[in-house]
Amino acid sequence: MTALPFPSKRAPIYRDVPDEKWNDWRWQLSNRLNSVEDFEKVLKLTDSEKKALTAQDLFRVDITPYFVSLVAPDDPYDPIRLQVIPTANEIVPFTGMMEDSLAEDRHSPVPGLVHRYPDRVLMLVTTQCASYCRYCTRSRIVGDPSATFSRAEFEMQINYLKKTPQVRDVLLSGGDPLTLAPKLLEELLARLREIPHIEILRIGSRVPVFMPMRVTEELTNVLQKFHPLWMNIHVNHPNEISAELAEACDKLGRAGVPLGNQSVLLAGVNDCVHLQRKLVQDLLRIRVRPYYLYQCDLVEGAGHFRTPVAKGIEIIEGLRGHTSGFAVPTFVVDAPGGGGKIPLAPNYLLSMSDHKVVMRNFEGFVTTYEEPLSYQPHNPETCSYCKSKRMEPGQAGLTALLDGEAMFIKPEGFDELHNREGGMHRLRSDQEKWKPLGIGPGKET
Ligand SMILES: *Cc1c(COP(=O)(O)O)cnc(C)c1O
Repeated sequence: MTALPFPSKRAPIYRDVPDEKWNDWRWQLSNRLNSVEDFEKVLKLTDSEKKALTAQDLFRVDITPYFVSLVAPDDPYDPIRLQVIPTANEIVPFTGMMEDSLAEDRHSPVPGLVHRYPDRVLMLVTTQCASYCRYCTRSRIVGDPSATFSRAEFEMQINYLKKTPQVRDVLLSGGDPLTLAPKLLEELLARLREIPHIEILRIGSRVPVFMPMRVTEELTNVLQKFHPLWMNIHVNHPNEISAELAEACDKLGRAGVPLGNQSVLLAGVNDCVHLQRKLVQDLLRIRVRPYYLYQCDLVEGAGHFRTPVAKGIEIIEGLRGHTSGFAVPTFVVDAPGGGGKIPLAPNYLLSMSDHKVVMRNFEGFVTTYEEPLSYQPHNPETCSYCKSKRMEPGQAGLTALLDGEAMFIKPEGFDELHNREGGMHRLRSDQEKWKPLGIGPGKET
């Protein structure tokens, strides 16, 4: 690998910490900062930060020494600081904010498992993170040291997955799966790999960003036993890309783990086209492909981070065509109420008729494309993929089995949205309201 220009930083108070300690993730975890006294040793707190840090019932604060070292200590608007150190803005009540804005709990057939899309599930495996993002979409469950997922719940999750053959992709999240004890993580991955219909495993983690020293050879040796295993990290600002993160990503890449990045669009942190261009280009240098750019969710305490939706579209427009196609993430709004991720993109299609499509390119140049005069589509009768109906619309998502019966309930107030083509099917944790259903299109009641 050519030498990369990314810095390696340590706040002055950590200068005398021996390297073996600094590079030990357990040391990083047990020396996290969370109080006014801790932070004052590293930076000058604002009155707003002090107020928040001494407030009751605030979402958990904890920052690794590594990550706090990336903050410019004299800048109250430092983009890393804003992500992890609370301000009084968090205490301001905000109308429209929701505790569980994505209705994940409603889509949980068993605790900690969110089955929102037909062929994949989100599995919440821990409530702990290496550091806590102030805009956390799961602040309702994350951070509470007393609320860990139990062994019994884990067995229920595994049992559900075994009985749900349409799940081919399991996304481990939390909390942060890479904060789990190494043996526990290995057991979890091994148990999932035993289920034949689970084709891919994914981990969503900010550990490489908060605590890159966690990516040890021991960890990559474990991960590579369970391929195909993919990982999404979470970088929001170019300042988070350090020599240490580059090294962690290099190790993961060498272990065959393809890396993606999920960013959240945050006011005052990364709501800038030029900054985003630098971010995605730097990510490619460390072999991380930008995956999603998220609109900030409607989370209590995070109102001050929200941007207009148009800002996200503007950013994508400033990337597409202007830089490597590889570098352009998909901008998504996770629909409040559980509608799922909705991709939004600039409009390049100006008009369309039977024979002509009118479009514009990234420079605003308008052009046309002539449609073919005749089109011979493939024959679905002889196509083996069509016949296998692997993703038959209307069928997918229906066949979750609990106690041997398929369960499905039409979501309240979603009659119009529910169509057999799109197949919006949900599962609910509220078992009383579940009803058994015949499998296949046309049988919904
Ligand atoms: C984001 C998400 C997924 C994964 O979605 P992809 O678009 O496949 O990355 C799965 N389940 C839930 C509940 C999610 O929020």
